[in-house]
Amino acid sequence: MDHLNLFREHFPEVKAVGVIGSGIMGHGIAHVAAAAGYTVTLFDLEAALLDRALAQIRKNLEVGVEKGKVSNADMQATLSRISTSTSLKETVDQKELVIEAIPEKLPLKIELFGKLSGIVNDDTILASNTSSLSIGAIASASSRPERIVGMHFFNPPHILKLLELVSSGRTSPDALASVKKVAEKMQREIVVVKDSPGFATSRLGVLLGLEAMRMVEEGVASAEDIDKAMVHGYKHPMGPLRLSDLIGLDTRLEIAEYLHRELKSDAFKPPLILREKVRIKHLGQKSGQGFYEWNK
Ligand code: NAD
Repeated sequence: MDHLNLFREHFPEVKAVGVIGSGIMGHGIAHVAAAAGYTVTLFDLEAALLDRALAQIRKNLEVGVEKGKVSNADMQATLSRISTSTSLKETVDQKELVIEAIPEKLPLKIELFGKLSGIVNDDTILASNTSSLSIGAIASASSRPERIVGMHFFNPPHILKLLELVSSGRTSPDALASVKKVAEKMQREIVVVKDSPGFATSRLGVLLGLEAMRMVEEGVASAEDIDKAMVHGYKHPMGPLRLSDLIGLDTRLEIAEYLHRELKSDAFKPPLILREKVRIKHLGQKSGQGFYEWNK
């Protein structure tokens, strides 16, 4: 018998999805899940955050309609499949898949996955949208680590199709196969990545962003000119500093600290300029200021 069969589990077909955290990523994940036909419940700690998330989803869909990429009927159908809740229990109730998109802090994620273990059905798959953290460490908080997977979406999910799928080594092949089917239905471009710090994307992307910040610190060039150089010289769709602002400088700092610790490379040591901006709450687009002014 194939030794993997020892861990083989049956997971029911995914029909409904819970999304925990409605911030930059959570609302986008809810959007693409609903657009793919799933019934979605989106959770956050406060109703006001959920109102903002729903308004943003509607706005993104309206832009899609204006550009002729989404039909009016599809927009209405997508919106009708999304409900919101501030109750964790209600969010995960009757869901075959729950996707977590809360801040990039390992203790916070471990606490949440521990809590979820006690309230979800035995055959609910739990996915983390972490950009860098160990899926194995997150799974250690669960009573059933074989159902925990990494589903790393990209910002904004309704535009960027990439999805990194991460198996912790303890993830059941059936859970992975189940999530892969969902990702295909969401029209994702899938890459399967080993559970290692920063996976395939953040490890490279964050490195470029941190080096660009060090260059600003050293006065090599302005943020605008460093970005312009990468856009026109390397055909990046957007420079590394503008991208850092879009992602959120607090999230970038969390990832850099984790990668610095785990990969033991000074290339990931967070530059002072990043720490300083996070300290004064210049977090990028979400706070109105980062390496760029976003209020203008
Ligand atoms: P965010 O700060 O925009 O949103 C996080 C949301 O989680 C907030 O709305 C907050 O109220 C909620 N929250 C906080 N603590 C919670 C808890 N204990 N339980 C439930 N909800 C809680 O963060 P984000 O940028 O959306 O990042 C979320 C995750 O997605 C992180 O792991 C991040 O690394 C990853 N990610 C981010 C990006 C990006 O571009 N920002 C891209 C890919 C992946």
